[in-house]
Amino acid sequence: MGYGHIHPLLVARVAIKRTKLAGIEETEPQGLLTYIGVSRKLERHELEFSGLLAQSLKDGGSVLLRPSSRVLVMGEADPPYCRWHDGSLYRHDDPLERRYCTRRTPRGYCNEHIGSLRALYETCVAGWSLDACRKVDEELGTELKYTIYMVAHGGRKVKVGLTRSFRLLNRLAEQHHLVATVILETDSLLKARKAEMRLSREAGVSDKGPRKLVEGDRQAAADLLARVAERVAMDLGIDWKRRLLYVESPYRLPEPGRPSMRSEYRIAGYSQGFLLLEGSEGMISVKLSTSAHKLILEPLGY
Ligand SMILES: [Zn+2]
Repeated sequence: MGYGHIHPLLVARVAIKRTKLAGIEETEPQGLLTYIGVSRKLERHELEFSGLLAQSLKDGGSVLLRPSSRVLVMGEADPPYCRWHDGSLYRHDDPLERRYCTRRTPRGYCNEHIGSLRALYETCVAGWSLDACRKVDEELGTELKYTIYMVAHGGRKVKVGLTRSFRLLNRLAEQHHLVATVILETDSLLKARKAEMRLSREAGVSDKGPRKLVEGDRQAAADLLARVAERVAMDLGIDWKRRLLYVESPYRLPEPGRPSMRSEYRIAGYSQGFLLLEGSEGMISVKLSTSAHKLILEPLGY
């Protein structure tokens, strides 16, 4: 190939993105909602993708592969790299300052980090252990706020999810949705997880996303979401604030695909949890939740 590893190999970690409020759309409620009299304001937030954060396998340093950077896809680490990094769990941090763990493990977190607050938080939110939620509460007290949200994605059900409140817009940007709403906020992770479990058992609600991404009508999705939220809030005695919002990516999502090994790609964008790569055969999308901490890249200048 003749490149001779001029640059150190990198492992992909996370997409760096921000959102900004781009406008408030007012729409007329339709059907039953006209009767209930729900006013409809939709916050439109725009995604700004600054690049893919990757980590040098040589010295552990963080590198930002900005949009348009060119990379060679070299393969997938098996087992993947430990997910732990020393960035703040409480607030937005500067991802370029993070130190990621450079050990490899099939369990997500290495032996040293499996009991870390970050690992416990992820274990709780993934729905694997209520005990992990309890431990996070014991350690953090009421320091963090958690948001239970629901999204409508064009399917027949809406999806319920849980995130740290300060990450809500980022979290929405990471998943396919047409419209979202905040159901409640609490300062206990255990309470938040239990509320999420309770909500996922309500009719018309699921804790899973759609199996296929559907291009749906945002207005119809907002109607469905408002209807379900109104009902579950009434059932559970929640004071639903009727905040409706969505995060829009400027990039069109191509078909998911697998990059060819030792092939050159351009970092082309990010949308709904997918990294967009443009190669000689066109644009593909790579799901970052399954490729991060694995995908090995050689930068061709950044
Ligand atoms: Zn580790």
